[in-house]
Amino acid sequence: MDPLDILTNLSMVTPHFQAIFNAEERKVIGYEVLGRMKTEEGWHSLGPFFRDQSIPDEYRLEVDDLIVRKALDYWLEVDAKPYIFINRNPDLLMRDHGESLLEMLKVYQDKGFPLDHLVLEITEHDFTGDIERLNHLLTYYRTYGIKIAVDNVGNGAGNLDRIGLIEPDILKVDLHMLRKTNGLASYQDVLYSLSLLARKIGAALLYEEIETLYQLQYAWRNGGRYYQGFYLQDPSEVFIDESLLTEKLKLEIQQFIEHEKRKIRNFYQLSKSIQQTVQQSLLKDKKESKGDELLKHISQDLSAYSFRIYICDEDGFQASANHVKIKDVWVQQPSYHNKNWSWRPYFLENIMKMKLEGRGILSDLYSDIETGELIRTFSYPIDQDQYLFIDLTYEYLYEKNAIL
Ligand code: CA
Repeated sequence: MDPLDILTNLSMVTPHFQAIFNAEERKVIGYEVLGRMKTEEGWHSLGPFFRDQSIPDEYRLEVDDLIVRKALDYWLEVDAKPYIFINRNPDLLMRDHGESLLEMLKVYQDKGFPLDHLVLEITEHDFTGDIERLNHLLTYYRTYGIKIAVDNVGNGAGNLDRIGLIEPDILKVDLHMLRKTNGLASYQDVLYSLSLLARKIGAALLYEEIETLYQLQYAWRNGGRYYQGFYLQDPSEVFIDESLLTEKLKLEIQQFIEHEKRKIRNFYQLSKSIQQTVQQSLLKDKKESKGDELLKHISQDLSAYSFRIYICDEDGFQASANHVKIKDVWVQQPSYHNKNWSWRPYFLENIMKMKLEGRGILSDLYSDIETGELIRTFSYPIDQDQYLFIDLTYEYLYEKNAIL
């Protein structure tokens, strides 16, 4: 669309509202304000206009401010009191150190719009200036109750340190990639690290561009407190009934819960059945051998599901060779003796768990550092100073539905 058409037809510029739902009550908690313009062919998004760097800042700000004013005027008119999420390019915001926007918002505060109902969405990776100064401004905005969301997280280069500095109230994570790549593992890892970051800095996760039930399930499973996207609700000129999807979402979330519970039950059953095999195998070993001797005795019993076994002491020093199954024959790799594994994530925590609870542990799914395959490890306390590690094959886990 020609920028001039927009600037000469400002009366046709209208805010559209896309509903944001929360997980706990399954109701609309707020709306993201999107700029649209009415033309003879229908509604046009003003997104490209706002992103077009060749249009002078003043013009973009003028249209942006107009949309916010129209949105807040509408908020004041209606009975509902949802949160209003507005977008602001951080470079444009910093031009006058955020003063004009704040002045405009204060006018609306006087008219009855509480500023703690405003969420300012900032796309951090679009920002070209000094992050410390932006952070300073956002901190100042916060003293008015304004909430900060970092937008488009997971799209640009991962500036986790900069996001950590801003400590936003909300991280907006876009799920469109999840559909494009059919849930590509590496992308899921990025999303997973974002969910850890959110937890660390106390930010709520808002998943947007949810267009399928699968994406909604993903959002729910990965700590999503807020949801937004066409699957839930198209943007519209008016607010919707806040309970519109409450029942539908309840049913869908119940499906997710059932699915998750089945997975967890399956996980425990698998863990229990491996533990039984290991215990029976250890019982057969009447000579009560240790280390490599012991592994030689039990390896045959574990052939059906493992490709590698070894024993460590409680400090993580390997007390045996690696026993590796190569073409159905167990082979010893003695160079692994005395290697220390205490630096690996969860290692000591799991040792202590086994020691104190006297039972085996099935690990989470992770990539094996040698084969690169997704595996799980079952570990079991043989006695006070021997802990048995059984790396389970991908094929076995797949067969047992334990690859998710
Ligand atoms: Ca946004």
